[in-house]
Amino acid sequence: MHTKTIAELSRGLKAKEFSSVELTQHFLDRIEKHNSELNAFITVTPEHALKQAQESDAQIAAGNASPLAGVPIAHKDIFCTQGIKTTCGSKMLENFISPYDATVVTNMRESGVVMLGKTNMDEFAMGSSNETSYFGPVKNPWDTTKVPGGSSGGSACAVAARLAPGATATDTGGSIRQPAALTNLTGIKPTYGNVSRYGMIAFASSLDQAGTLTATAEDSALLLTAMTGFDEKDSTSIQRPADDYITGLNDGLEGMKIGVPVEFFDENLSDAIAAPVKAAIAEYEKLGAKIVDIKMPHLHLSVPTYYVVAPAECSSNLSRFDGVRYGYRCENPKDLTDLYKRSRGEGFGDEVKRRIMTGAYVLSAGYYDAYYLQAQKARQLIKSDFDNAFKDVDVIMGPTAPNLAFGLGELMDDPITMYLNDIYTIGVNLAGLPGMSIPCGFAAGNNGELPVGLQLIGNYFAEGRLLNVAHRYQQVTDWHSRRPTAFA
Ligand code: GLN
Repeated sequence: MHTKTIAELSRGLKAKEFSSVELTQHFLDRIEKHNSELNAFITVTPEHALKQAQESDAQIAAGNASPLAGVPIAHKDIFCTQGIKTTCGSKMLENFISPYDATVVTNMRESGVVMLGKTNMDEFAMGSSNETSYFGPVKNPWDTTKVPGGSSGGSACAVAARLAPGATATDTGGSIRQPAALTNLTGIKPTYGNVSRYGMIAFASSLDQAGTLTATAEDSALLLTAMTGFDEKDSTSIQRPADDYITGLNDGLEGMKIGVPVEFFDENLSDAIAAPVKAAIAEYEKLGAKIVDIKMPHLHLSVPTYYVVAPAECSSNLSRFDGVRYGYRCENPKDLTDLYKRSRGEGFGDEVKRRIMTGAYVLSAGYYDAYYLQAQKARQLIKSDFDNAFKDVDVIMGPTAPNLAFGLGELMDDPITMYLNDIYTIGVNLAGLPGMSIPCGFAAGNNGELPVGLQLIGNYFAEGRLLNVAHRYQQVTDWHSRRPTAFA
């Protein structure tokens, strides 16, 4: 059962080939068998899952079940889940039991989806390797000496090793697309404002967006349909008619214009990545698309701009963790200042502290104009590069990540190189656009073959088009159906 896609599982459930309880138990058994090695889950919720599965089975029997009823998935541990531990990968929230559900969790539950548990992640979603998690690093199922990418590394690992057929994830600068690329998955980060951020623990509020990690574009379309929609509890949620991501999946690509930014293929990109990415773009030509070289002259500002904006926003968002209201509190504080200092000092890890300090610095009176204000201007220039490009092309394509999955521990003492992992993805968040990563080939790692991802970027609310473009490619290639043999 675990080798099937969500679309196949949904059909199997409706045809009564297996029940949701059987299916859920099968995935719980796989988690039990493999999680101690992979560390993909922080919390597994078997009782909760089996109860939801029974309810879905009843709906299916009654003939009034929604398309996703009875399908199990995992939630990134950044989404609040009522009555269940929600840690955000941090010691600060190690024992936090959320009093309410995130809208994403509610929407999924109302679609009949079964929650298997909560997946590991970089602390407060800050990282590109899942090594900043208080709960330890996650392994890449393709090579367990390598990272799965981050910050949604637990979700990526769970789906790649088929401990779950799909998972929710979040992307502030690349945290859905980069792990998708490193673990051979399909990942989608929707347009900013398309998915509610209510109950999704904030990192950088103007960039954070929830999405999914699945085996195929069709599965992404199914999950995203359940996830998206206006939410009055999130003031940045956009009120617009519901999108249909399924109907257009098979539309033809004849005459579609694909923009390929020359800046994506500069000397920073190794041949190992460039070759499969270029081959994938050539495949699109065969499907009838036209390829156009485009220029994005401000793209090189993305990483420095992001590392001013994101820390600034996180320094404000994370000020709520003060040891007073909820979360970690130090032992025997001398006074209030000592309580704040030690609770935050002991509760946060190094990367989170680095970001809070950078953020507080760039927002401080003397430096605001020089850093924060400049970054906001650069952000506009990056957005205008995309706006200009989309006057001429329908979709932008390039690599997702500049490298293959790297070794555990390899970049932990080199934050700058770690930050460069998102060089191709971050601009999309700064502009608020939708982006995807899909499997497009393999390259030789030092311990076997490692996956490579192709990035697709669309105009605002062009998620449906992106999923269509991804789906058509997956009908003529089989990269997405390859799985790591150790977890077959
Ligand atoms: N790797 C980036 C960072 O460390 C992006 C993280 C994310 O998208 N959540 O901030």
